[in-house]
Amino acid sequence: RDTVSSEADGDERALESTLRPRRLADFVGQDRVCEQLSLVLRSAQQRNRVPDHILMSGGPGLGKTTLAMIIAAELGAPLRITSGPAIERSGDLAAILSTLQEGEVLFLDEIHRMARPAEEMLYVAMEDFRVDVVVGKGPGATAVPIDISPFTLVGATTRAGLLPAPLRDRFGFVGHMDFYGAADLELILRRSAGMLDAELDDAAAAEIAGRSRGTPRIANRLLRRVRDYAEVRGDGRLTVATARSALSLYEVDEQGLDRLDRAVLHALLRRFRGGPVGLSTLAVSVGEEPETVEVVAEPFLVRSGYIARTPRGRIATPDAWAHMGITPPKDAAF
Ligand code: ADP
Repeated sequence: RDTVSSEADGDERALESTLRPRRLADFVGQDRVCEQLSLVLRSAQQRNRVPDHILMSGGPGLGKTTLAMIIAAELGAPLRITSGPAIERSGDLAAILSTLQEGEVLFLDEIHRMARPAEEMLYVAMEDFRVDVVVGKGPGATAVPIDISPFTLVGATTRAGLLPAPLRDRFGFVGHMDFYGAADLELILRRSAGMLDAELDDAAAAEIAGRSRGTPRIANRLLRRVRDYAEVRGDGRLTVATARSALSLYEVDEQGLDRLDRAVLHALLRRFRGGPVGLSTLAVSVGEEPETVEVVAEPFLVRSGYIARTPRGRIATPDAWAHMGITPPKDAAF
């Protein structure tokens, strides 16, 4: 995976954890979610109860994991981290739930990808702080209820709409994370540059922010690429000229579109003459999973006004043709 918008891995994860803000006060942007969250936490503390379960929804890299860690820190509670795909059987979940400490925060990333039987176990755990462990096999099997410690579940999902209603309804608070504005991204970049000991001037911060697709993870990643470039090809200082050269080398264009975005647009324009085309067909033609195209590339392309969703499929807007420098055929959809 080599596009700037893809998920983080290895080295990058380590770097991300050093750049994570630790307290709510250091978390940049998402003011509404932060204020709501702060209220949920404070009121629970005043009543001396564990806070309601919390669901974070929003695209990759917008700060859901960071906020989960902050929630635990603000509560002074231990944190356990797992994810939907890691829970293959309900037994995996039972093992986690039954060993939670009182007040622990359980972060369940990609909660929409959890196995169905585990999901049902989670309903009961969330509501009654109980798990029903099945003992034995076949007709003789019985469910033994086990009480578990009160805990706060923090679920994260890229698409809240994918959650079954019974699960969604069991969250007392749903925070919707939005793309970040330029000013917030610049703030994040300046803070990260400080932590990386990199000299970043204001114009360079603005240049990088403008290409970060409204996403802190991408901003930090681009910052690192620009810093590498400045160290190897320049004098180490991150200027706007360095930023532009570095980002063009890494195929991130002025609007922040990366290789995957451009591949999607290119296929839509060239192969499907601007659409309409179904998402899975489009994904196959760029060699990606439909979910990757839908979660990683499409929201930004739609928000930038390059792709429109219609009942008949995705279509390219006039801006898409213009941005890619391709002349639309006379019968193009738009
Ligand atoms: P998600 O869980 O939504 O995919 P993360 O919480 O892992 O996103 O955030 C990705 C990176 O972006 C982390 O390195 C984090 O430090 C940074 N980040 C995200 N949101 C913010 C923010 N509001 N302020 C500062 N840094 C942030």
